[in-house]
Parts: sequence; structure tokens; C-alpha cells
Amino acid sequence: MKIAVFSARPYDRVSLDEANANCGHELVFFEPRLAPETASLARGFRAVCVFVNDRLDAEVLKELQKGGTHLIALRCAGFNNVDLAAAKRLGLTVVRVPAYSPYAVAEHAVGLILALNRRIHRAYARVREGNLALDGLLGFDLHGRTVGIVGTGRIGAVVAKILHGFGCEILAYDPVVNPECEREGARYVRLDELFRGSDIVTLHCPLTPETHHMIDDRAIEVMKPGVMLINTSRGALVDTRAVIRGLKSGSVGHLGLDVYEEEADLFFRDLSEKVIQDDVFARLLTFPNVIVTGHQAYFTREALRNIADTTLANISDFEQGRACPNIILADRVVR
Ligand code: NAD
Repeated sequence: MKIAVFSARPYDRVSLDEANANCGHELVFFEPRLAPETASLARGFRAVCVFVNDRLDAEVLKELQKGGTHLIALRCAGFNNVDLAAAKRLGLTVVRVPAYSPYAVAEHAVGLILALNRRIHRAYARVREGNLALDGLLGFDLHGRTVGIVGTGRIGAVVAKILHGFGCEILAYDPVVNPECEREGARYVRLDELFRGSDIVTLHCPLTPETHHMIDDRAIEVMKPGVMLINTSRGALVDTRAVIRGLKSGSVGHLGLDVYEEEADLFFRDLSEKVIQDDVFARLLTFPNVIVTGHQAYFTREALRNIADTTLANISDFEQGRACPNIILADRVVR
């Protein structure tokens, strides 16, 4: 099938080309993000392959459908960037990659916790300047600390397992109890109880209208003073302005972000020669107790390979009229 691949970085091309050796699709790579200004590039492509910051609102979906697109293949798990109601109206099929490596994201979240706690980001810069003093680098034992995991699906469960190994107490919040987490010693509590009792809060739930800005002024107010917040899930789970207020007052002691609510215009590109126009983001970068990574938690060799294999298998299933296990929304007509 002829596929327009948006937001294609060089590493995407490599992994998709490798996986395509067994599939024989025609892949055409476009570096820009899918947005109203770029949607016309997809004209004549039956399938469009997109990533986390591509915009699939009603306007873009309509343009895609007019141009002959029938299938939207997400090469990610989250689908908060797709207007599913509009896709349904337009008769588009939407598929995704529900799981490619929960380990990649969980390990990155734990990496942020360790780096923030032991100030590894600061120690790295200091030692290179010949400063081997320890002042300002004091951390705490993770052993015996309480970690609150919000969302205990695939990724949250791996985080629970790793942190259980560190000797942490685990509090969990999820509308669905995961027995695997309970086996790791996690205790399911109400969300406000989790906020109240945790030294570290790490987010692993999807972005939905219900979870939008779940970390706001009110949530921070009930948390332990100096709490560490980690978000490797979706940016808009966190009200960034509220967290900045928390960092300024000391209510938030550490912040580790792999995602940011306005990341679409910033992430996945080299802006080192440019002036960052987003003042909220720029302010975040000034805190010594904040680490921001650019949506790289998923970025392991294993994950890229699994993403490419599953994406192309989803497209082949659609093309050949087979039942696809990774369908979010099915077209009215089975093709
Ligand atoms: P998953 O579907 O396996 O688990 C999500 C869990 O969140 C489920 O158990 C669900 O019941 C729970 N949940 C739903 N609503 C909730 C709520 N209101 N409060 C608490 N929990 C709630 O998904 P996953 O594979 O574990 O991925 C989790 C999230 O991680 C994804 O939604 C995605 O946004 C994010 N993610 C980020 C990256 C990255 O590179 N940073 C990569 C992959 C996924």
C-alpha cells in the first residue's frame, strides 16, 4: 500500500525501511508534522502514518479523506491527538501500536528519578569544570520511600516492579486494579491519598478529558512538601504553570518531564541555534531541580523495531481485509 509517513526522522526511516523489507509497502517519508498546512502532502495516499505530535483534528481528517486516505496508522500507543468522532463520521479506520516496550518508558522514568535525586545532571557538568565539591548534591535513599504510581497499566506495572526492587513502598491509583502490581506490593488508594502519602509521584495514565491537568495547584497543595513529580506520559496531564508556582515556592522539590503540554512546536528538532519563544518552557529550563527530556522515553532500539513491525503489520491487515488486533476505530466497510 502507498503510505505517507509524517514526522519522519532519520531513525524512523531506518526502522520502517527495515521492517518493510518483509512487507513490500510503498513508503514515502515527509519530515514535517501533519497539520492543516501539510495535509495536502497526503493526497493520493491510502494510508497515512503518524506520531505523537501530528495533528489529526476534524479539519485535517477531512482533508485526508478528500485526498483518498482510508487508514490512519499511529506509530504510538496514545491517541489523544486524533479526533475519533470526526474520523468515525468520515469513515476512516484508525490503528495504533498499543505496546512496543513498556520497559523503555518505565526505565526512563526511573532514570529521571535517580538523576534528580542524586543530582547527576549537575554533577556531570560540575566535574567537567573541575569542580569536585559535593555541596548541593545531597540526595536521599530511595529505599523505604513511598512512590505513588498513577496509572498501573503496562508501563506503570513495570515501574512498580523496578521500584519494588529498590525497596520503595508503592501506592497506586487506577480505576482498574492490576493484580501484577499488587503482587509487587502496591497498595491501591484514592488519588488524593496517593498525593498525600507519596515522596515521588509518577504519571502513567493516558491523557483524557478526565486526566487533563490532573496535577494542578490543588493537587500540589495536598502533596508532601518537596515532592518529586515525574511525567513520562502526556504533557497536558500537568498544568505547567501550576508546577512552576510549586517549584518557586518549594512545594515541588524535583520535576522530571519527558513530555510537555505545548511540545508539538518544540520537540523532535534541533532548536539550539534559535531563541525559544515559549516562555513557560524557557522558565522550566532555569530550575536546577528540573530535568526535561524531549519525549525520548520510548526511544530504544527494541521499541523502534517493535513500533515499525507492528505499524506495518497493522497496515497489511487492513490492506488484506484481515481482523487487526490494534484497531481503535473501524471503517464501516471492511476492506
Ligand atoms: P496502558 O493502557 O497499558 O495503561 C494505562 C493505565 O491508565 C490503564 O491501567 C488505565 O486503567 C489507567 N487509567 C485510565 N484512566 C485513568 C485515570 N483517570 N487515572 C489513573 N489511571 C487511569 O498504557 P501504557 O502502555 O502503560 O502507557 C501509559 C501512557 O504512557 C500512554 O497513555 C502514553 O500517553 C504514555 N507513553 C509515553 C511514551 C513516551 O515516550 N514518553 C511512550 C509510550 C506511552
